[in-house]
Amino acid sequence: MVFGFGKKKDNNTSNRADKDDEIDDGEDVELVNFQGAVNGKPVDMAANSRLAQAALVPTKEMITDGLERRAEMIRLDVKGERAQTTVSVDGMPYAGSKMPKQQALAITQMVKLLAGLDPKLRGKQQVGGVRTEHLGIKYELSIDVTPQPEGAERLTVRVRNMKHQLDTPADLGFSTVLKQTVRDLTSHRHGIIAVCGPPGSGTTTTTYALLRGVDMYMFSIYSIVDTGTRELVNVKKFEINEGDDYETSCMRMMREEADVIFVPPLKDAESTKQFMSVADRICIVAEMPVKDTASALDQLIEFSGDRQKAAEVIDAVFSQKLVRVLCSSCREAFRPNPKLLEKVGLPAETKTLYRKGEPMVDEKTGDEDPPCEKCDGTGYFGRVAMLEAIVMSDATRKLIAEGASGDQIKAIARSEGCLTFHKDGLRLVAEGKTSLEELQRVFKG
Ligand SMILES: [Zn+2]
Repeated sequence: MVFGFGKKKDNNTSNRADKDDEIDDGEDVELVNFQGAVNGKPVDMAANSRLAQAALVPTKEMITDGLERRAEMIRLDVKGERAQTTVSVDGMPYAGSKMPKQQALAITQMVKLLAGLDPKLRGKQQVGGVRTEHLGIKYELSIDVTPQPEGAERLTVRVRNMKHQLDTPADLGFSTVLKQTVRDLTSHRHGIIAVCGPPGSGTTTTTYALLRGVDMYMFSIYSIVDTGTRELVNVKKFEINEGDDYETSCMRMMREEADVIFVPPLKDAESTKQFMSVADRICIVAEMPVKDTASALDQLIEFSGDRQKAAEVIDAVFSQKLVRVLCSSCREAFRPNPKLLEKVGLPAETKTLYRKGEPMVDEKTGDEDPPCEKCDGTGYFGRVAMLEAIVMSDATRKLIAEGASGDQIKAIARSEGCLTFHKDGLRLVAEGKTSLEELQRVFKG
């Protein structure tokens, strides 16, 4: 087993198939506290006392396990008469506990109750949230219960740590050059800046980090995006008047001296055109749900319906891939040989690189030492973003106007030395933040 369960309760009531692998040190584990449904619906335990008796502790144990393993997602799937949890840590899935189907059904029902959903309703997707606290840290759990074939349900719990968020450029590992680029781009009341990527690729996180990278002492940022409970520090929330379109609303914000406006994802020509019509006088930042920067350029040009306008107002497109950060407690330094450096494109004078630490083996017994406490033996702890950034130049603007495709524009931007995933990834390797193996994994995926 790659991943230990860590500490556990001595009177463990849940059924775990891989019990044998665990060390029962008899240490008590503090279980999570559920602090109410996000939708505000009261959770009536008294009326559901049988369910609570059967499922509250196992539910708490499942969530506690996930939080202790730093999971961003916990999934419970029923297959036949058995059920299996999967936890996702830094984007990697790990098999969790196994249990009988009946227990999984009870846990799913319990979670629905806790999230202010209808515990008895089945066969229909339900989504909600639960506020949770564990060891003094607040979490918000997003709940999704989706029907599966043969009457089964899949429970997905997404975890958001309310304290530790990858919100600043530093948290996300932006390079010094990139931080300066963001400052420059957002400092002259001009242009569309789009952050693109497929769902789950970290687009929102990068967009927030980018907004946090604006020089807040000098410039004021407005937002017309519904950010839910996720707070955007130093960003003024702007209410759109009923009947006002985006263009009118942007003009009102400009009269209030806005410098940068964070707008909803650019998904259609109608709203994109409205933002473009003001982008010669204000900086517009938005997400775009497309796969990469070339597609974002193609899409923006198409939405604009006017290549001259697109050439004038598109300022930059960004995209990100998240890579795991090497665990600082167990990473291993090594001296790379010159061939390796040449092959991957790192400077020949690079003295030290790092890789994932391997567990030490006791020479006498041949047993492996216990896994690193910090990362639980995964070798990684947390993630940062590697970025691709195409910032428009005179040459690339000319290309847009002349009818070039996103790929052609990207090729020229590359020849001009724009930031590529490859370049930014190697920087993270050279800084010892991640490993070559991890880069390879991410590029393959
Ligand atoms: Zn470690």
